[in-house]
Amino acid sequence: AGAESSAAGGKLVMVTNAEFPPYEYHDNNDIVGIDADIAKAIADKMGMELEIQDMAFDSLIPAVQSGKADFTAAGMTVNEDRKKNVDFTDTYAQAAQVIIVKDGSEIKAPADLDGKKIGVQTGTTGDIYAGDIKDGNIQRFNKGMEAVMALTQGKVDAVVIDREPAKVFVKENAGLKILDEAFTEEEYAIAVKKGNTELLEKMNAAIKELKDSGELQKIVDKYITA
Ligand code: GLN
Repeated sequence: AGAESSAAGGKLVMVTNAEFPPYEYHDNNDIVGIDADIAKAIADKMGMELEIQDMAFDSLIPAVQSGKADFTAAGMTVNEDRKKNVDFTDTYAQAAQVIIVKDGSEIKAPADLDGKKIGVQTGTTGDIYAGDIKDGNIQRFNKGMEAVMALTQGKVDAVVIDREPAKVFVKENAGLKILDEAFTEEEYAIAVKKGNTELLEKMNAAIKELKDSGELQKIVDKYITA
């Protein structure tokens, strides 16, 4: 990774947390998903090889900062705090934090979360924003799916997590639902090392091409059926 790999024909090292379907997840020994496909398409346009490494979500930005990885694509929400540590490409997806509850829960809207036990994935925007809730009792998990399991077991009252993985987890676990009112609206982007404008500009150019050609939408449609 690092400066060398930015040369044409080199290798781009991507880090992600492959516990986040449909953006990144394990399929046998492969890491697949929307981000994996987008990153592959970007690397192709740059004439480079792509290597994907899996790690904890809260290790992704440090890996990019230290140069262990060239970039992270991880359904990562752009926010001001992260912008202090990494540079973000143009955004490539609209996203939201939503609230998952058990069917019949008395929690019907974000305002009802006050004083409730809320499950989140460590270091995610769900974690950050749920922490703003008055009297919120935040329970942190390494994987979003573990937070959802805690909900099914009654150990937490709600889970705050990104909309698309929420849909997948609710489909896989009976008796859960996503509240209509989202908790936040946000956007995803790829993050590179601060000051790596060469890579940032190349990635932005590739993202623009993918958007303009409809290729990006095709990738999304492959993983998300309306
Ligand atoms: N979008 C959320 C964030 O950026 C969660 C991302 C994830 O868990 N991969 O914090």
